[in-house]
Amino acid sequence: MINIGILALQGAFIEHEQMLHRLGVSSFEIRQRRDIDCAFDGLIIPGGESTVMGKLLHRLDLFEPLRERIAGGLPVFGTCAGMILLAKEISNDGNVYFGTMDMTVRRNAYGRQLGSFYTEADFKGIGKIPMTFIRAPYIERVYGDAEALAEVDGHIVAARQGNMLATAFHPEVNDSTAVHEYFIDMVNGVKSV
Ligand code: GLN
Repeated sequence: MINIGILALQGAFIEHEQMLHRLGVSSFEIRQRRDIDCAFDGLIIPGGESTVMGKLLHRLDLFEPLRERIAGGLPVFGTCAGMILLAKEISNDGNVYFGTMDMTVRRNAYGRQLGSFYTEADFKGIGKIPMTFIRAPYIERVYGDAEALAEVDGHIVAARQGNMLATAFHPEVNDSTAVHEYFIDMVNGVKSV
């Protein structure tokens, strides 16, 4: 039985909890340092505001222990702001947060007008899925060990590198559980090795 920690400092974490609940996967909220004293099998970093989440992670002493676990191979799934926190480079922001994924992302990449939109597109290994973008970033480029998994209008919107998965969109707000199932398969793959 796997257990997934969901970073619950800010942003859209409840929707991820509901998704995992629908899939019969147990999860818990990470709000403070002692919440991660236990062992857990995967981590979800939700959407929200990357700058705020970054500050809170440091203030609550969660940043370094989580960074170590991610760097050590803990499966992680970052959506939107969560994806920004995983990127090694943010082209329009001087900050780098966990910096574990070989990709350059652009914050608020769709501008204000087109900040939020819905589309459907192919996701490698899954097929066509719904994608909801909310003041979303996109991935300008992947390099090294990162692989692009989905594109919308010529921009990469999902990527994977080993045990790390990132989406610019919010799969937790649509009906399809496919991307969460994909992540749970990643977690189970690690667990059974
Ligand atoms: N615009 C936010 C940021 O830059 C991300 C938006 C989201 O997570 N929905 O952090």
